[in-house]
Amino acid sequence: MNALEAVVQARELLADVTPLRADCGRACGGACCQSDEDGQGGMLLFPEEEALYDPLPPGFRLRRDDAVLPGMWLLTCDGICDRALRPLSCRIFPLTPVLITRDGEERLRVRVDPRAYAVCPLSEQGIRGMRKDFGKAVLEGARILCGCPEHREYLRALSRYFECLREW
Ligand code: SF4
Ligand code: SF4
Repeated sequence: MNALEAVVQARELLADVTPLRADCGRACGGACCQSDEDGQGGMLLFPEEEALYDPLPPGFRLRRDDAVLPGMWLLTCDGICDRALRPLSCRIFPLTPVLITRDGEERLRVRVDPRAYAVCPLSEQGIRGMRKDFGKAVLEGARILCGCPEHREYLRALSRYFECLREW
């Protein structure tokens, strides 16, 4: 399976499952879809995911972003979208897979995305406060991604990036 096929499969796994049974966006006003105070915001795409935005659907913009790895793509939106077009980052939020090396062994884990603490009311309760099948789908999607070297490299870089953001 190549990197694009892997990200398509992971997206499909997370097409319908959400963090809560109810619409969690009702309580927070869809905070994760709002742009920052300076009008910035966006979701980093996983390797090769940009191919799914060519041609670019209305309301989306793409630009290069080197924050995690050189040459990656950041997708920005108008705060509303067709659910079928949501990138993988939006489907797994407020969780994230990480690849952690301990005692010389690399382990795949699912954690609350450290960037979620500033915006998402679900993050304080952690994964236990979310639907079990949501956490399972995020882990299953991450396992699929880990079958591809490009995604493993990205997840390693993302994990290092998170370590720089906060101690967790
Ligand atoms: S910020 Fe958290 S609670 Fe609000 S819509 Fe996004 S995932 Fe749901
Ligand atoms: S792509 Fe959709 S789900 Fe993701 S931040 Fe934009 S509006 Fe929200």
